Amino acid sequence: MSNSPIESAKETAEKKDGPGLDFIRTRIAEDNASGKYQGRVHTRFPPEPNGYLHLGHAKSICLNFGVAGEHAGGKCNLRFDDTNPVKEDTEYVESIMEDVKWLGFDWEDRMFYASDYFDRLYELAIQLIKEGKAYVDSLSAEEIRQYRGTLTEPGKESPYRNRSVEENLDLFQRMKNGEFDDGAHVLRAKIDMAASNVVMRDPTLYRIRKAHHHRTGDKWCIYPMYDYTHCISDSTEGITHSICTLEFENNRELYDWTLETLGLYRPQQIEFARLNLTYTVLSKRKLIQLVQEGHVRGWDDPRMPTLSGVRRRGFPPEALREFCSRIGVAKADSMVDYALMEFCVREKLNAETPRLMGVVEPIKLVITNYPEGQYDEFEMPMHPEDESHGTRTMRFGRELWIENDDFREEAPKKYFRLTPGQEVRLRYAYYVTCTGVVKDAEGNIKEVHCTYDPESKGGSTADGRKVKGTIHWVSACDAVPAEVRLYEPLFVKENPNQVEEGKTFLDYLNPESEKVVTAYLEPRLAEFEAGTRVQFERLGYFCVDKDSKPGKPVFNRTATLRDSWARVERNQK
Ligand code: ATP
Ligand code: MG
Repeated sequence: MSNSPIESAKETAEKKDGPGLDFIRTRIAEDNASGKYQGRVHTRFPPEPNGYLHLGHAKSICLNFGVAGEHAGGKCNLRFDDTNPVKEDTEYVESIMEDVKWLGFDWEDRMFYASDYFDRLYELAIQLIKEGKAYVDSLSAEEIRQYRGTLTEPGKESPYRNRSVEENLDLFQRMKNGEFDDGAHVLRAKIDMAASNVVMRDPTLYRIRKAHHHRTGDKWCIYPMYDYTHCISDSTEGITHSICTLEFENNRELYDWTLETLGLYRPQQIEFARLNLTYTVLSKRKLIQLVQEGHVRGWDDPRMPTLSGVRRRGFPPEALREFCSRIGVAKADSMVDYALMEFCVREKLNAETPRLMGVVEPIKLVITNYPEGQYDEFEMPMHPEDESHGTRTMRFGRELWIENDDFREEAPKKYFRLTPGQEVRLRYAYYVTCTGVVKDAEGNIKEVHCTYDPESKGGSTADGRKVKGTIHWVSACDAVPAEVRLYEPLFVKENPNQVEEGKTFLDYLNPESEKVVTAYLEPRLAEFEAGTRVQFERLGYFCVDKDSKPGKPVFNRTATLRDSWARVERNQK
């Protein structure tokens, strides 16, 4: 993280171009070479529909769909891991589908739900019971926790562990039939209460949950646990490589045990380090809290690290894919600099967005020697280096809006913008020389005055006279007022997950993460539809927000032209 984003981007780009594949791709190549899966590559992206996808999920999506796409005949499934009825919702299912598509990936006809397998999972549980590999336990949740032991002490066997197969079958059936209350019994695998891997100490396979499920309705009142469901779902779908994040490393033993005990086809689980980003939280629980407590405008608030949030903010999907490719995959946890992602966003937007003029903090400029009621028209390119963007025409008149920051009554040395006595170029239009200001009774500057040189039309003069500064402008007669939302990082702490005593991550929210201003835009900017990305010359990249109405545009700042993160850190000091 000490590296600048540009440096680390270069480094990863070099790594990518080099001979080495990452450890997951190496593993898959080896399996292909050995014929382990007959050369098949079949992955899956398995979100739980209990929240919106975030940038961490983008890493997993790019990896799973990416790896599949790199092999002839490779496939990647989308599977909703919907085993927890109380937290899940169809709203989340729909948003996840939209986000995966937006990122540029296609599951074709392979969209599944773990709940599709509930019948099969139930049958397989019966098989385990019959083989003496599972039993119904009637300890309370608290007792089960106590009996489990610790990392250093072995667990204790439940007094119910040696129930007969008949009794287990009977109880499990009655659990299914709804005869018991939540928590009265669970079904557990019978493995080893002294196993050094705590996961293997008779893990729970099923619990009673009298809850409505978003797909199976009220059919079930027992629900299978994640570990039991996941491996069987992978196996059922013929997955070859089950790629997941590091926290599942200890669960791999159970994954393998379940499939081997049931005599089922076994995919290979491979773990990689999850994405952590500076100034960001990437946990659904925390993101849900931000939304539910109203700290942001919603799941798609442009400050949110959700895919719907960064989409609304204006991040192009290509930039996210590029980011994921640059960070690569590793086996050790690390923190990625948010600035690297912005770097990828800028790189993409710089090449592809049209450049227009908007004034975000306006101050009036009056050209005293320009006739009243007269206008010039200038045809200007929409992108200085790319003619394919075409041109637009802008009117120039006696009164303009310029950026407040482009004028100083008393300027420091090397200030090349507007200050009394200094000449600057108004982008694509004329040279103007500042002659003074008009103030109100309180001494606030109301207008900046200047004169223009009619010979400098188009932005240059016959005498070849140079000016050091060029500033942008919008003519007052045509300017469209717009709501512009200026975004800064949502958190002021580099790692908001690391909280000091007595605080929560919410204590590190940036109170200035959103600043709403009224800007003046050139008229063409009011014509773009929601989602369009543009550059406001000299200011940054902006995206038309869905709150825009005809004649009342709303823009979100996607990114400044340069790294703004250094500034955040400076402000903190
Ligand atoms: P969270 O921890 O944010 O609640 P989760 O892991 O519970 O996320 P799932 O819906 O289970 O969310 O995730 C779907 C897939 O995305 C899983 O394979 C998970 O490993 C992966 N994933 C989740 N977060 C990240 C992350 N930060 N980096 C990489 N992959 C992630
Ligand atoms: Mg999860």
